[in-house]
Amino acid sequence: MAQAFETFPGFWTLLGRGISRRCPWCGDRRAYFVGWFKRLERCQRCRHAWRRGDAAFELGATTANIILTFLSVLLAMLIAVLVTLPDIPFLPLIIIVGVLAVLGPAIWYPTSFTLWQAVDLFMRKPDADEMAGRRDAEL
Ligand SMILES: [Zn+2]
Repeated sequence: MAQAFETFPGFWTLLGRGISRRCPWCGDRRAYFVGWFKRLERCQRCRHAWRRGDAAFELGATTANIILTFLSVLLAMLIAVLVTLPDIPFLPLIIIVGVLAVLGPAIWYPTSFTLWQAVDLFMRKPDADEMAGRRDAEL
C-alpha cells in the first residue's frame, strides 16, 4: 500500500525533486530506480506508482529526455562559442557536441522519468484516494 500524504508539494518542489532524480511525491533519492537503467513500478520509499494509470507515460518521459538532451547540447555549444570567440574551433566543438548528443539520452534517462512524473503530478493532481494511498490514478 502506498504512503498517505496530508499535503501535496508545490510546483517548484515537484520540479526540483524531478530534475534532481528524486521521487516527486516523497523526495526519496532512490525513487523508482535500482540502477541507472533498471526501473521499478513503484517508489522504493512511498510506494506510489510512476505510471498513475497512464499507459503512455513513457512518451512524456521520452519527450522530457529529448528536451533535456537538446538543452544540454545547446548549452554546451553556447558556452564553447562564448569562451572561444572570435576563433571558434569548429571541429572539436562538433565532436564534443556530437558525443553529448549521442550520450545525452542515456545520461538523462532516469531524470527524464522523475521530471516527467513531477510534471504529470502537477498537471493531473492526485485525488483523495491517491493522496490517502488507497489506489493509483486512473484515466
Ligand atoms: Zn516516493
